[in-house]
Amino acid sequence: MSLSERKEGDGHPVGVRFKQTERTGQATYHVYGGPSRRAALEFLRRTHVKDELVYNIVETPEGNFGRDLIYLFHEADGKPIELGERPRSQSPSPSGTRCAWCGFFVVPYKLPINDENVGSVTLYMTYDELAVLAKTGGGLHCGACSMLQCAVCSGIAQTGGTALATVCRACGGEMAVQTVVGPVGRAAAPGGPDAEQMVTLPADPMGDELWGMAPLRLPWNIDVARFFGQSTLPYVWPEDGRHTEYIGSGERAQTLLRASWTKIFLHHPNPEVTLGCLRSAPPDGMLTLTSLADLLASLTAEPRVKEEASRALWRLSDGLVGYTLNVLLSRGVIMSGYDTHSVHQALGHLRKACPQSRRVWFEEQLARSEDD
Ligand SMILES: [Zn+2]
Ligand SMILES: [Zn+2]
Repeated sequence: MSLSERKEGDGHPVGVRFKQTERTGQATYHVYGGPSRRAALEFLRRTHVKDELVYNIVETPEGNFGRDLIYLFHEADGKPIELGERPRSQSPSPSGTRCAWCGFFVVPYKLPINDENVGSVTLYMTYDELAVLAKTGGGLHCGACSMLQCAVCSGIAQTGGTALATVCRACGGEMAVQTVVGPVGRAAAPGGPDAEQMVTLPADPMGDELWGMAPLRLPWNIDVARFFGQSTLPYVWPEDGRHTEYIGSGERAQTLLRASWTKIFLHHPNPEVTLGCLRSAPPDGMLTLTSLADLLASLTAEPRVKEEASRALWRLSDGLVGYTLNVLLSRGVIMSGYDTHSVHQALGHLRKACPQSRRVWFEEQLARSEDD
């Protein structure tokens, strides 16, 4: 008997059937169709997602519902409905990346690279802070037996953080938060405008006085060519002394603001704004090339935007292309924080857009990274 023939009374949701698997970027969506919200949630509760970037989606006439590693959620706005249940086995299976009890991936708590935590990665959290781990898919690591225990199996989700939650279920040893030191996850801007046709770009841990040092509210639609046609460009954060002092005034200020707004538009979630910027004010120097690299390695930018970004890159000199590749491949002092898959994809776009005359040079540049 197929799933779709089972009746609700059998303990299986009525009429939920598999449609297709879609892959975009590095995310995988298993899409199902179902008759109702109730059937969708019932199905999602028993269909476990044990990995990051894998999503089960059920499309119904009452809306679409999804499940990821952590939550059941509304697909339209990503709003959580409930924490996904995690069935716990009786005996633990040791793993370096997954919870020994439920087999779900444990998302490491990311510590930013800075002077304070280099050489000392133990993270002390208050019990309130521990509760956050349940919402981020995090977990604990046992100092005695090396087992991983996710926040849900530790009981953090139910009770909030308590002293009991930090005890290893396998050996009784003391547990610490599973962490990784690296560039802190870079928050993505919302994928669409709000009710006022505006969008708020989040602050970025790699940001500076030109871009990303603070959240920024902007119109969803911007005529970039017209914007840069103004005789005087506005400050980005007019109220913020750190920004206005850095920019200063006069001609130099206008040069900096031009770079600043270019960086912002390259991070704008509306593809039309980004394309407008690539066409009318393409990145052309050290100040803006890191944002071009960000765009090429972006998890959210559309392929047509990345293709345009690749063409913009190939209009630059060897020196500037080389600089951008160094950022993209994290060959500088600071890690760029891009994931390997995005970088691989970006190189694919660059290779496709590469003019015949520069192909040999480009491959030489890439080969260089493997020796380093
Ligand atoms: Zn678990
Ligand atoms: Zn243990």
